[in-house]
Amino acid sequence: MYDVAILGGGPAGVAAGVYASRKQLKTIFITKDFNSQSVVSDGIENWIGDIQVSGPELAKKLENHLRAYAADIVDIQTGEWIEKVSKIDGGFEVKTDKETYQAKTVLVATGSHRRKLPVPGADEFEHKGVTYCATCDGPLFSGKDLVVIGGGNAGFESAAQLLAYAKSVTLLHRSSEFKADPVTVEAVLKDPKMTAIKNASIKEVKGDKFVTGLVYTNEAGEDIDLATEGIFVEIGSIPTTEFVSDVVKLDEYNRVEIDPWTQKASEPGIWAAGDCTNIVYHQNNIAAGDAVKALEDIYVYLKTK
Ligand SMILES: Cc1cc2nc3c(=O)[nH]c(=O)nc-3n(C[C@H](O)[C@H](O)[C@H](O)COP(=O)(O)OP(=O)(O)OC[C@H]3O[C@@H](n4cnc5c(N)ncnc54)[C@H](O)[C@@H]3O)c2cc1C
Repeated sequence: MYDVAILGGGPAGVAAGVYASRKQLKTIFITKDFNSQSVVSDGIENWIGDIQVSGPELAKKLENHLRAYAADIVDIQTGEWIEKVSKIDGGFEVKTDKETYQAKTVLVATGSHRRKLPVPGADEFEHKGVTYCATCDGPLFSGKDLVVIGGGNAGFESAAQLLAYAKSVTLLHRSSEFKADPVTVEAVLKDPKMTAIKNASIKEVKGDKFVTGLVYTNEAGEDIDLATEGIFVEIGSIPTTEFVSDVVKLDEYNRVEIDPWTQKASEPGIWAAGDCTNIVYHQNNIAAGDAVKALEDIYVYLKTK
């Protein structure tokens, strides 16, 4: 039986893997691949220690770092999809589409994936004006008329960031009430460059080589053409946690509920870190740091059990 099973090969999983190796924990590391969510980014400018790194470069660096320290102590299994984690005597069983592994403890670091905008043109123009990360891509749209889709906190916070350099920001929200905190809504709407429209249902993204605009249906049922070069979609993300739903408590968004001091999940012996958890901020550095915290706690648990 392994000491720990680390599930997921993004910044969270890799950071935990490096620490597990240095602590000489017998580890099974399972991931489909090392492509974290930001692998699609041309330039990540806030991964500490790299002034700028592309998403694919960062993924390769993470993999190299893990492999350099893994030696014989970390058994790295890629190309496997984790299907189920179950409790067994003395630990847990992790079933993938190819194998079954047993470990005394589990770290869930399988991240999440963005909910995509389900309208014609959205996929075609992704990375050509349609983007899912204002923090990452916002500065590329300096001086332009931009659209944010989604009236939750993420939508309003994205709008707030974009207002720093956009010519204008129009936020479109599909229902009659914004979901974001009223304080945030009020603060963002004070900016004269900001417009927010409720009951706007997105119909289509338009463009040629790059996005040129979108069509939405307004409250009166009319189709409105809105010109824009940048569409920032914030309609939620979907945590990859189905395979642990029988063993740990998930919140209403299917994120693993954790104790933020230790990263422990509700079931003793399971920890979680990164975007699959119910923490407030989701970023590469945070995912890595939280996974390190989890691994430290797993080490203490294993040595004092
Ligand atoms: C477009 C975009 C750009 C971003 N840019 C930035 C940025 O510039 N700076 C920044 O700090 N953050 C950025 N982020 C956020 C950042 O990517 C995430 O916070 C970070 O990737 C979370 O890391 P993670 O390890 O928790 O999960 P993830 O990165 O989601 O990694 C999860 C890993 O688990 C694997 N996996 C998932 N499910 C399974 C399964 N069932 N079986 C096997 N393997 C599985 C996946 O293959 C993947 O390797 C961006 C996000 C997006 C979407």
